[in-house]
Order: sequence, then C-alpha cells, then structure tokens
Amino acid sequence: AQPFMQVKGLKKYYNVQNQTLKAVDNISLDISEGETVGLVGESGCGKSTVGRAMIRLNEPTGGELVFKGEDMLKMRGNRLKQLRREVQMIFQDPYASLNPRMAVEDIVAEGLDIHHLAKGKKRKERVLELLDLVGLDEEHRNRYPHEFSGGQRQRIGIARALAVNPKFIVCDEPISALDVSIQAQIVNLLKSLQQRMGLTYLFIAHDLSMVKYISDRILVMYLGNRIELASSEALHAKP
Ligand code: ADP
Ligand code: ADP
Repeated sequence: AQPFMQVKGLKKYYNVQNQTLKAVDNISLDISEGETVGLVGESGCGKSTVGRAMIRLNEPTGGELVFKGEDMLKMRGNRLKQLRREVQMIFQDPYASLNPRMAVEDIVAEGLDIHHLAKGKKRKERVLELLDLVGLDEEHRNRYPHEFSGGQRQRIGIARALAVNPKFIVCDEPISALDVSIQAQIVNLLKSLQQRMGLTYLFIAHDLSMVKYISDRILVMYLGNRIELASSEALHAKP
C-alpha cells in the first residue's frame, strides 16, 4: 500500500534580519493510515513548522509532500479546497484559537459553514452529534468559550476539527496548556476518536511522557533536523 503521507526532504527557511534561519532543514517521514506519529523536541526546534507544512498552512522552501500518492504542493483551486476538509489542526491553546465572540454552536459549525456542508436543522443536528462525540452537553452549544474550563475548551476545538470529517489531524501541543490532571482525559479522547473514525495523527509535544502513550512511532527533532525515529516500544524500554 502507498504511504498515507510522505514528507521528503522538507525545508523551511525564514529570513530574519538578513540572516537565513533554517527552521526546518531536511526532514523526511512517512506516515501510514491510522497511525499516530509523535513529534517531539524543545521549543523552537521546528515542530509546528513541520506540522503546518503538512496541512499546507505554510509553503515549504524545499522538499516534497505527498498525500495519498498526490503531490500536495501542486494542489490548487477545488482540490485545495477539498484538502482543507481532509486535513485539520488542533491547537495548543484552545482559548486563543476559539473566537470569544462566537457561541460554541457557531465555532463547531465553522467548517460546515465554510464548506457549505449543512444548514438549518441538519447543521444543528450535526453540532449536537459532535458535542456528544467529544463529551460536551447539548446545552453547551449556546454558551461562549470563556464559560468553559481549559479541558472543555480543547473539546470544543476537537469538535470543530472533526466537523468536516477529516482524515489527517495535526495535533499541535494539544495538552501542553492544560492541567496535568486533564491531560490524560484529552489524550484518551483523541485516541478513542482515532479508533472510531479511522483518523491519522501527527502529535506534536515538547515532552515525551504523553506522546509515548499515544504514538506508534516518535520523531525527535533538534534545531530543524531529525535526530531519531523510534517505535514507542523502544522508547518505553529506555531506562
Ligand atoms: P516549535 O514548534 O518546535 O516550537 P516552530 O516551528 O514554531 O518551533 O519554530 C521554529 C523556528 O522558526 C523558531 O526559531 C521560530 O522562531 C521560527 N519561526 C517560526 N515561524 C516563523 C516566521 N513566520 N517567521 C520567522 N521565524 C519563524
Ligand atoms: P506555537 O504556539 O506553535 O509555538 P508560535 O507562537 O511559535 O506558535 O507562532 C505563532 C505564529 O507566529 C506562527 O504563525 C509562526 O509562524 C509565527 N512566528 C513564530 N516565530 C516567529 C518569528 N520569530 N518571527 C515571525 N513570526 C514568527
């Protein structure tokens, strides 16, 4: 079977004060369908830049991205619009990424509205289904982000990402901003959703603990470069 997602020699350089900053320099990685690949490394090593490139939120300086056999960087027009449904992102800070002036119903339905997937009664039914899926109550739909705890806000962000039935989700430090007591709940939710919906994840984190638990394989980055790719079992085995 062809790999679900292939990253080949990915580079992303920025020009900062007339210097070239190699945020990502030559990262390669294959992801199979249904797999979770963890991406770890210290802050600023290029993890988000890789994740964003993989869903075309930034334009790489070099390298190739192949999604289900198709050159992702050549996608334009309708194909690119369709890609925006196939891939999604869950953000680190659910508060910053949720519009404070939007009711939960409209936040969750954002993708449905953008892609014209459901209106009126169907839209409401789909929102209720999504809230249920992430463990929120029906009446939460009329409330606003500030009325929720960090964990609940992350559930709203997850429901928003799932609304368009994506295949691949970049989870960019989805638990780093949460209380330790809540982190396992969100990781377990993401894991069960993956099994239920056949999702594939890139799971970004700056520390190994939860990533070892959710990931099938883990890529470690250091200053824009790959330093290790190991199975989670191998990492568990280390003292
Ligand atoms: P991480 O996710 O591992 O914390 P990032 O991918 O966010 O790392 O950033 C990698 C490096 O690229 C950092 O030095 C960061 O400051 C820099 N960087 C990221 N985005 C930009 C940008 N738009 N312009 C300039 N530098 C950037
Ligand atoms: P994250 O929460 O993923 O670490 P950052 O705060 O690093 O996000 O980056 C947020 C946004 O700012 C991103 O779009 C990133 O590309 C941009 N950015 C990050 N570092 C820089 C930088 N040094 N110069 C300009 N833009 C940057």
